[in-house]
Amino acid sequence: MDCIFCKIINKEIPSYTLYENDYVKCFLDVNPLSNGHTLIIPKKHFKDAFDIDEEYLKEINKASKRILNLLNDKLKPVGFRLIQNNGNLQEVKHYHLHIIPNYIKNDKKSVEEMFNLLTK
Ligand code: AMP
Ligand code: ZN
Repeated sequence: MDCIFCKIINKEIPSYTLYENDYVKCFLDVNPLSNGHTLIIPKKHFKDAFDIDEEYLKEINKASKRILNLLNDKLKPVGFRLIQNNGNLQEVKHYHLHIIPNYIKNDKKSVEEMFNLLTK
């Protein structure tokens, strides 16, 4: 299947991975809306919120708390937005949850710089 996120899971495409386990992978968005913008994906291909099963949804929720805590501790944003697009709003047709920190002052850093900061 020609799915970019399945390729990331299979390591055919590199990613700035912050956390993974048997169920999920969490990595930095390459085109971030803010510093630390992270995507959480299931390691099994589900198209969207209609398609995904509850076992994986639970694991994505658990991982989202882990990522929220990591970003909160390291980046000290003033808020967070969690977004999960479906249908015409969804560009990549492999379920993913966006975790998007919000800042008062948005001094954008490179994804590589954010990765180094978040993993050191
Ligand atoms: P959506 O519109 O919800 O489908 O969002 C897809 C997101 O995937 C966008 O924010 C893209 O910047 C992001 N994206 C696409 N390709 C990659 C990639 N190879 N690594 C990391 N993020 C990606
Ligand atoms: Zn996929």
